[in-house]
Amino acid sequence: MPEGDVVHRAAVRLGRALDGRVLVRSDFRVPRYATADLTGRAVLGTVARGKHLLTRVEGDLTVHTHLRMEGSWQISPAGRALPRGDVVRLVLANDAWQATGVRLGMVDLVATAQEERLVGHLGPDLLGADWDEAEALRRLTLRPETSVGVALLDQRNLAGMGTIYRAETLFLAGVSPWRPVGAVEDLGAIVSLARRLMDTNRDRPDRTTTGDSRPGRGTWVYGRAGRPCLRCGHRISRGEMGAEPQERLIVWCRHCQPGPPAG
Ligand SMILES: [Zn+2]
Repeated sequence: MPEGDVVHRAAVRLGRALDGRVLVRSDFRVPRYATADLTGRAVLGTVARGKHLLTRVEGDLTVHTHLRMEGSWQISPAGRALPRGDVVRLVLANDAWQATGVRLGMVDLVATAQEERLVGHLGPDLLGADWDEAEALRRLTLRPETSVGVALLDQRNLAGMGTIYRAETLFLAGVSPWRPVGAVEDLGAIVSLARRLMDTNRDRPDRTTTGDSRPGRGTWVYGRAGRPCLRCGHRISRGEMGAEPQERLIVWCRHCQPGPPAG
């Protein structure tokens, strides 16, 4: 599942291919925008906001996309064959490059002035230049009874975190995901750690939170449910938490991260 680091990297790749060039092809394969046509307009730039991408186009238009569970932006020389099957949601191309949005979870076309309607609810972006830790902490603690695992994934509190960084951050901090956010002693340290982990990985496709990028060694707990903890040898637990069905998975070590519900 793409998290903030992947999305920020996608923004950079889209920028290299599209910025400052005039679109010669725009193919929206979502019913709502089937007739939209951006050809003849230059792309001004793409910015990431948490897990959202905003591609701004001449004429005060913004293409909003979200990768959700399995979406991606594929960049290739213009004119390349598109992926087969019903997976392409959007193609934006100039005479040199084409950007193909595959399995995107959201595609919107709005006036640039209306962007806030789509991303205005987001908390501070963990990888944003305007990151504001105090504001993120304020938002996280508005509902102190919420479990810290749920609060960290709520994009209204802070934007960009997904199930992988949540699991890895809480493991490294030694905090149970089920602990109420109001009972976490040093929430600031957890948020700083999450930001550091994501920032370290923003320029590297082989994500690692362990410092080891060999296959199967890149994470402490994520993807390791049922296997021995790399620190203590106890079996890694898995469970479900949170509201959004696709983001329920939580893995943690009951020994290294004591607390509810393990007791
Ligand atoms: Zn452990």
